[in-house]
Amino acid sequence: MYEQILPDLYRIIIPLPNSPLKDLNSYVIKAADRNLIIDTGFNRDVCFRAMEEGLRDLDIDLNKTDFMLTHMHSDHTGLVSRLFTDSSKVYFSRIDSSVFNENIDWQAMLDYALQNGFQLEELVKAVESHPGFKYSPKKIPEFTFLDDGSIIEIGDFQLKCILTPGHTEGHICLYEEEKQLFFSGDHVLYDITPHIESWSYETNSLKNYMESLDKVRNLPVKLVLPGHRNLFTGLAGRIDELKKHHENRAKEVLEVLGVNTMGAYDIAGGMTWDIECENWEQFPTTQKWFAVGEALAHLLYLEDQGRIKRHKGEKTDTFSAP
Ligand SMILES: [Zn+2]
Repeated sequence: MYEQILPDLYRIIIPLPNSPLKDLNSYVIKAADRNLIIDTGFNRDVCFRAMEEGLRDLDIDLNKTDFMLTHMHSDHTGLVSRLFTDSSKVYFSRIDSSVFNENIDWQAMLDYALQNGFQLEELVKAVESHPGFKYSPKKIPEFTFLDDGSIIEIGDFQLKCILTPGHTEGHICLYEEEKQLFFSGDHVLYDITPHIESWSYETNSLKNYMESLDKVRNLPVKLVLPGHRNLFTGLAGRIDELKKHHENRAKEVLEVLGVNTMGAYDIAGGMTWDIECENWEQFPTTQKWFAVGEALAHLLYLEDQGRIKRHKGEKTDTFSAP
C-alpha cells in the first residue's frame, strides 16, 4: 500500500506494532535512473512485508535505489539492513552514525542511568526491552555521510540537509527549496510531540532542540512530511506550539521539585505522563527509561539556565532550587 503525494513522490506507511508512534512514514522518490527511500522501519518481518508490498506496487527496483536515514533510531534505520543492495548509497548523518560504531561506550550510559536513580535490576530490563536494541539494523551498510548543507539530488528533487540536533544529536531534515517541501524526520511532528531525552550530562538535548526549532522555523514551506503520522502545513505555528510545550514541561519539573532535593528518577515519577497507568511503580520499564530521559533533558536545560542546581551524590545525583 502506498499513496502518492506529488508526482514522483510517494509514502509507504510502515506499521510499528506495540509502539505509541503507531507507524512510520517511509517516503519514496521515484526517478528515471535512481530512486530514493527516506527512512525505513524496524528490522522486523511485519515492517519488511509492508515495505515489500509498497515497493512492489510502485515497481521499485532495489538495485536502483538509495536510502536516506533522518536519524539513528531503529524505527527509521532498522530495516535498511534488509533492503540495501551492492549498488545502494545509504546516506546517513555523520554524527548519528557513531551509534553503530563498535567502540561506543554503553557503560557510560548505564552508569549515568544508575547515577540518576535507576535500580540495576530495572535497568537491565529496560535495556533488554528497548526497541533500539531489539530492532536495530543487524547488517550495517557502508554509509555515505551527511553534514549540515549536504545536497542529495534525485530526479528533479534537490534535497538540502539541515542538521537539527535535539531528538538525536545528529538528526537531519531535508529541505526541497523549489518545491517548498520539508522532510522533518522526528524533529517536527504534528499529532504527537517528538521525544527529547538526555543520556549524558554533556548533552543539553533540549537546548539544542529549541535552537534547531528556531533554525527551521522561517523556511518557506508548503508541506511538511514528518517521520510519523500526518503530513501538515503551518510549520512555524507547530514549532511555536512545541516550544511552548517544553517551557510548560520545564515549569512542571520545577513544580515537582518545589523546595525538595530529588533525583531525576523520582522527579520523573512526579510528572504527568500520557500513559494509562495507576502510578509510577506500575509504569512499564521501557516507558520509565523514556520518562527519566525526558525528565533529565528538562533538568539539564533548567540547570544550564541557572534555574536549578545539580548535586553530585555518592550513589545518586540530585537536583534542587539554586
Ligand atoms: Zn526518533
